[in-house]
Amino acid sequence: MKHIAFDGRLVVIGFGSIGQGVMPLILRHIDIDPTRITIITADERGHDVANEYELRFINQALTQEDYRPRLSAMLGKGDFLLNLSVDVSSVALVGLCRELGVLYLDTCIEPWPGGYTDPSLSPSHRTNYALRETMMRQRCDGPASTALITHGANPGLVSHFVKQALLNVAADTGVTEAIPADRAGWAALAQRLGVKVIHVAERDTQVADRPKERGEFVNTWSIDGFVGEGCQPVELGWGSHEKALPADGRRHDFGCDSAIYLMRPGASQQVRTWTPTEGPFHGFLITHSEAISISDYLTVREGDTVTYRPTCHYAYHPCDDAVKSVHELAGKEWVQQPRQRLMMSEITGGIDELGVLLAGHAKGAYWYGSQLSVGEARSLAPHNNATSLQVTVAVLAGMVWVMENPQRGIVEPDEIDFRRILEICRPYLGPVVGAYTDWTPLDGRGTLFPEDIDTSDPWQFRNIRVL
Ligand code: NAD
Repeated sequence: MKHIAFDGRLVVIGFGSIGQGVMPLILRHIDIDPTRITIITADERGHDVANEYELRFINQALTQEDYRPRLSAMLGKGDFLLNLSVDVSSVALVGLCRELGVLYLDTCIEPWPGGYTDPSLSPSHRTNYALRETMMRQRCDGPASTALITHGANPGLVSHFVKQALLNVAADTGVTEAIPADRAGWAALAQRLGVKVIHVAERDTQVADRPKERGEFVNTWSIDGFVGEGCQPVELGWGSHEKALPADGRRHDFGCDSAIYLMRPGASQQVRTWTPTEGPFHGFLITHSEAISISDYLTVREGDTVTYRPTCHYAYHPCDDAVKSVHELAGKEWVQQPRQRLMMSEITGGIDELGVLLAGHAKGAYWYGSQLSVGEARSLAPHNNATSLQVTVAVLAGMVWVMENPQRGIVEPDEIDFRRILEICRPYLGPVVGAYTDWTPLDGRGTLFPEDIDTSDPWQFRNIRVL
């Protein structure tokens, strides 16, 4: 089914796992002439896929010096820039698209190379919080061409899962209210339900017929992307129920103040979480912009005082070979391995279980999300694994929404129509399930090695954090 027709030009920056995976979906569901599509990348990966679809392929990295003249020559009013790269500044691209009247979508707010680990920047300024604040400063009043930022799976799709999960918990706990119409309505609903914590809880069980080798980083999506964000400080949306800031926790002295950061890299910090298939597990608290935007979106204020906000963060157990890769990376003091391998055709089985865990309400905790197997992903779309398809279908859905809403300026996933996005994504997500659990992060604690835990409230971050 074609969701929409688009007669403008489409420039895609980056053609790695997400770029290659989204192309068959774009050509299947958007009525677009392939001769109007150009790909700009910094390496040869995916050249064969571009040839398969007869797309123009330019292997010449964009730089801070040349991105403006090069893109201005290729794009004009009503065209579309799809940014699926690493190492190209999203803020710079959004600014240029606004000037040119070009539609825009990305899946992550990326800085120019080195921005995540620039030693001249304070930890506070190396966070996704700071990148988001810089992006948001570009917002202006009045109509402007739409730039949908951070719309992959997470960030992206999970913001829509949160809304559906809130409605499901409301229905199951006898809270009968109309579907909220705006930000204030969603925040009031989350507060009324008593949601204290939202985890983006992900367990990737995909395995390959080739084990990870020494000196090799293996993952099911961008290795550069994962290492970059894994080396940024831990970040989490900071809830109003939290009793004490962690000893290594810091607040920012600018911006909306919805999040804190810890003075350590995300890939060195684990947290307790839960998904239906895996049950309880430890995931990495990698920084992601949804942790900041969801907490900000669901904040309730009276005057200047925050009266409600959930704690929100990622809890990510990547595939087992990626866990081994992180362990090796940390042991080399975060100097990246000389080789990397993005797992694709060698994957022999497993699922990506990706959803949101809403906890602290009347029924304990509730997980809602996608349990997509690699086999189903391959049967649904070429050039994808389970991880990439959850991202690429969200990119497709976001592009359709942008084309349908071309004059909305800079928008985040939390601010757009969740039902339209879920409708487009649903056929590609495998089983989409909701499951309640009475698990809490206090389960099984304190017997072998008693820890300093707070038994009066299981959903304190102090209990969730693995020390
Ligand atoms: P990848 O590493 O497989 O590919 C990155 C691409 O960027 C490559 O084609 C590379 O050549 C290109 N690139 C690098 N520098 C460039 C430059 N200067 N100019 C032009 N192209 C350049 O990454 P991926 O897995 O495809 O991920 C792409 C982006 O999507 C990353 O920002 C990643 O963080 C993000 N992502 C988001 C989600 C989500 O759910 N929101 C999930 C996966 C990936």
